[in-house]
Amino acid sequence: MLLDTYGRVATDLRVSLTDRCNLRCTYCMPEEGLQWLAKPELLTDDEIVRLVRIAVTDLGVTEVRFTGGEPLLRPGLTGIVARCAELEPRPRMSLTTNGIGLERTAAALREAGLDRVNVSLDTLDPETFQRMTRRKRHADVLRGLAAAREAGLAPVKVNAVLMPGMNDQEAPELLEWALEEGYELRFIEQMPLDAQHGWQREGMITAGDILESLRTRFALTPEGQEERGSAPAERWLVDGGPQRVGVIASVTRPFCRACDRTRLTADGQVRTCLFATEESDLRGALRGGASDAQVAASWRKAMWGKKAGAGIDDPSFVQPQRPMSAIGG
Ligand code: SAM
Ligand code: SF4
Repeated sequence: MLLDTYGRVATDLRVSLTDRCNLRCTYCMPEEGLQWLAKPELLTDDEIVRLVRIAVTDLGVTEVRFTGGEPLLRPGLTGIVARCAELEPRPRMSLTTNGIGLERTAAALREAGLDRVNVSLDTLDPETFQRMTRRKRHADVLRGLAAAREAGLAPVKVNAVLMPGMNDQEAPELLEWALEEGYELRFIEQMPLDAQHGWQREGMITAGDILESLRTRFALTPEGQEERGSAPAERWLVDGGPQRVGVIASVTRPFCRACDRTRLTADGQVRTCLFATEESDLRGALRGGASDAQVAASWRKAMWGKKAGAGIDDPSFVQPQRPMSAIGG
């Protein structure tokens, strides 16, 4: 097991497949100037599959989520999914993506064994999309979403971040659209993980703001704390259900006490938390000839050192050096 000193057990592995991306969301990356990892620094497909195998067979991981950067930019993605689907016990597998290119790959990914997708989309307005992502790709995302639904990658979840002065008025509209399309919408509070270190607590759109805005159009009933479990989204039934909306309040209502995550960066570092300032190098162990048992021991040791919480709302909070795109969101 991946146990820490607070008694938490990590069963949910996030694997970043690349730090690169074809969008430049303002809350994530600058327009230019980010240093990408060089190819030799990235884990190879074989190394990724080996680490997932160790996580699943030796360390009790049951859920694997592929992310990035933009994971659809990784040429070997479908093969990685297919090989992980053959592991015993078979992990549940999902993908977090901006949806660009999903139109072409959704069916193959489903076929390879992917169970679910989360597609990030912050706005229904192509111009606002372009302002927020600095790219004209709104239509590609909508097509990617539809393809995921068609391929049966269900439930298709949509992640939205609200930014002041950009899309902060759009919450009810986004929810109406998601209900119509049959997508499960989740709002994520903007976190201090942008490469530019431009996040400000003041002015950020909080879970409270989002719920207030949604309640101007919908009746929301909490699904209940006990059902929240370790899932970071607090969920509400919309107009009595069965459809729901989620809010991930990482800043104003952190869920660290119930966290069940462990993370692997694209260059093979274990991170115990999105906000960790320390990493443990598994790539070095792999390339130095370590056995599975030795790799598993290093991973366990890293998780044992997991901190109690991220403390974003604490004045002493220090933003990690690596941005979200390099950690794997
Ligand atoms: N490129 C893929 C995508 O956008 O879905 C996967 C990686 S992205 C880093 C994963 C998720 O993190 C996305 O839903 C994105 O909106 C979210 N994200 C990125 N930067 C964020 C920030 N500073 N605060 C909150 N969420 C953020
Ligand atoms: Fe790319 Fe995802 Fe970051 Fe947007 S949030 S820049 S899509 S990695």
